[in-house]
Amino acid sequence: MKAAVLRSFEKDLTIEDVAIAAPRDREVLVRIMATGVCSSDLSTIRGKTGSELPLIPGHEAAGIIERVGSGVSKVKPGDRVVLSWSPNCGHCFYCQQSHPTLCDVYTGAAISGGLWDRTSRLGPTAAPINHYSCVSSFAEFAVVPETGCIVIDDDVPFAVAALVGCAVTTGFGAVVNDAKARPGEAVAVVGIGGVGINAIQAARLAGAQTIIAVDTNPDKAELALANGATHFVNAIASDAREQVLKLTGGRGVDHSIECTGRPQAMSMAYDMTRPAGSVVIVGIAPKGMDLAIPAIGFPGSKKRLIGSIYGGGVPEQDITRILSLYQSGRLNLDAQIGKRIALEHVNDALRWLEQGVLARSIIEFT
Ligand SMILES: [Zn+2]
Ligand SMILES: [Zn+2]
Repeated sequence: MKAAVLRSFEKDLTIEDVAIAAPRDREVLVRIMATGVCSSDLSTIRGKTGSELPLIPGHEAAGIIERVGSGVSKVKPGDRVVLSWSPNCGHCFYCQQSHPTLCDVYTGAAISGGLWDRTSRLGPTAAPINHYSCVSSFAEFAVVPETGCIVIDDDVPFAVAALVGCAVTTGFGAVVNDAKARPGEAVAVVGIGGVGINAIQAARLAGAQTIIAVDTNPDKAELALANGATHFVNAIASDAREQVLKLTGGRGVDHSIECTGRPQAMSMAYDMTRPAGSVVIVGIAPKGMDLAIPAIGFPGSKKRLIGSIYGGGVPEQDITRILSLYQSGRLNLDAQIGKRIALEHVNDALRWLEQGVLARSIIEFT
């Protein structure tokens, strides 16, 4: 199959002809139809997360089940699916505690660069290529655990389904599951990218009265307001925090959702949240960085500092719920799709992302 392979953090991905093995027990072979180019791919490809190489990136994807391995009961050939980049076993300590994204089996697999048995189905046996988060969708096909497949309706376009596979669910769940925003509240979303836009939409659906989009790029104001933000604050302005306080009666927001991965922006989100409010950290910082908050005031602030990954809930339930909201017209996802490109242009899409291009690039396979 044709795949984009990461062989060096200093070089572009290379388009190669890669061998892919048959799915083993409880695994499936998926024909990838669409895959988004996400900031997490970019961080990995630029060497900020410390992944082992070689690797096929891509984790925000949708496709069609091509073939199933032994013991598979969840899906069958021909099913249209969204892929989860955090499939779970259902039996370990964290799965039993209803924290499926912390699944021990998945975590072990992801760190190993393999699937459930910690071996790879990608590349020649003598020189295997690592999987990325049990997906590796910058390729024509992927072998994934069956639990990583969520069946979708025929009327959901693959490009939309791919977006829901990461950015939409991550932003939506941060507001709904982690912040638990309620009608009438004030929410600040720091960082208006693929995730931030969906946090804004979720805040709108949750009935938040004041939704403040915060970003260093004033060009993002229009996009934020079109998706439901009530105000835009330029984060570069020296009085960004004061502006947010002014919009919230001097108190600060009830919830802040940090989506940039920059420790400085995380501190800003903390500062603009009211006492006893929640600060939800979604953005993934480069390896080795620390988050600084004023320790002396922390107990008295009663603030809740929450780490949020993949929407903080049960991704499969959230993905199903989000697609239903999309189908009924209550979530606008079509407008989030930017350029539709072929796999050969993946390196261009990564550079557009670095340059701050607003809409998501989607790689499509025909
Ligand atoms: Zn992602
Ligand atoms: Zn588990």
